[in-house]
Amino acid sequence: MSFDCDVLIIGAGPAGSVAGALLRDAGHDVHIVEKQHFPRFSIGESLLPQCMEYLQQAGMLEALGAAGFQRKNGAAFAWGARKAAFHFDEQFTAGWDYTWQVERARFDQILAEQAQQRGARLEFGTSVIDFQPGGDGVTATLRDEQGHERRLRARFALDASGFGRVLPRLLCLEKPSDFAARGALFAHIEDRIRGPGFDREKILITVHEKRPDVWFWLIPFADGRASLGVVGPPDYFDTLPQDNDAALQAAVDSEPGLSLLLLASRPLTPARRQSGYAAAVSQLHGPGYALLGNAGEFLDPVFSSGVTIALHSATLAADVLTRQLGGETVDWQHQFATPLQRGVDTFRSYVSGWYDGRFQKVLFHRAPPPAIKRMICSILAGYAWDQNNPYVQHHQRRLDTLAELCAQDF
Ligand SMILES: Cc1cc2nc3c(=O)[nH]c(=O)nc-3n(C[C@H](O)[C@H](O)[C@H](O)COP(=O)(O)OP(=O)(O)OC[C@H]3O[C@@H](n4cnc5c(N)ncnc54)[C@H](O)[C@@H]3O)c2cc1C
Repeated sequence: MSFDCDVLIIGAGPAGSVAGALLRDAGHDVHIVEKQHFPRFSIGESLLPQCMEYLQQAGMLEALGAAGFQRKNGAAFAWGARKAAFHFDEQFTAGWDYTWQVERARFDQILAEQAQQRGARLEFGTSVIDFQPGGDGVTATLRDEQGHERRLRARFALDASGFGRVLPRLLCLEKPSDFAARGALFAHIEDRIRGPGFDREKILITVHEKRPDVWFWLIPFADGRASLGVVGPPDYFDTLPQDNDAALQAAVDSEPGLSLLLLASRPLTPARRQSGYAAAVSQLHGPGYALLGNAGEFLDPVFSSGVTIALHSATLAADVLTRQLGGETVDWQHQFATPLQRGVDTFRSYVSGWYDGRFQKVLFHRAPPPAIKRMICSILAGYAWDQNNPYVQHHQRRLDTLAELCAQDF
């Protein structure tokens, strides 16, 4: 049987480009199909230190380092008068103690260029619109912007189409998420924050004083600009004006600490809305394909875990696929899906704990024991697969116990 390439990758977001570069390094013929043209806007601008390991393995750190992205060394939280800060150099897991806050248009373009420089073919403005799986190879139907269609045969396909969720839709793999439908409203701003007291090297997460299920992100970039967003359930957005710009402004105005901080700010882009993003699938792999990043599952933006999970899945999949293409018998469930899911489940426990209030009580506790704070900090740094960390290994049980203790003294 003849093939057009070894591996078809659907989508050139972080998962697709990193998988493409790793597979090229292993000597495979890679064809990436991307629906849009780069640079293009994407949300998801706050990275986690764990990402740096995957970017290093993919040989992309040097190019990214030269781009001058804002350094990120931790995460800060505010809830009325309560404040908490986590510094990544005070964490349990031995690993990276910094990462970046990135404008995704530029970040994703650099990753895609890196994959191309390693020899991956990247076709922009082309969508995958149909797909036939199969253990002996797969067939995808591609459509370009002129409406021309053609078929492409590959030994294997990786779906890295993010919220496009190409294979989950085409192969009926979609499953409701564990999480309630929430939405986000966001824009880029010139923040004009002056004076001490604001740390540009940290994402600031502000919990709404009166509605703990509503929270804001402020992600400073390197050039005085920042990403600003608010996340909440549908009934919260019903209380805001219909117009996106007015709604974001009204949300910020209702939060005294944040509105004071952003008093002199001005919007640089129209506000955008995204809702119902939490998604899951019935299986992460099948005959001739595997799902990466958001094409598999997306939990929630609160811990900035999306890109980290996308890169972890790409790294795992590239390894398993390289073995398979080299003639080894592989087990996608045990070598890819199960290990990937372990970290995703860690994040899942803490996201649940955020929205039911348990984890907020832990984060904002007045005097957390330093050893426990370091373990929690590792999770916030993305080291959610480190089974040596008791708060990873027994995430559900440990969080329950800790939250009970913290609640007594909150
Ligand atoms: C409100 C919000 C805030 C977030 N904040 C953060 C954050 O701070 N930090 C973080 O790490 N994550 C964040 N995320 C998550 C983050 O956006 C994603 O997890 C991350 O972009 C996933 O990467 P990916 O490579 O899987 O997919 P994507 O980055 O979505 O890339 C997928 C690519 O596939 C292409 N594509 C789609 N359909 C097709 C098709 N039919 N054919 C060909 N190509 C196609 C798309 O054009 C796109 O370029 C946030 C998400 C939301 C909703």
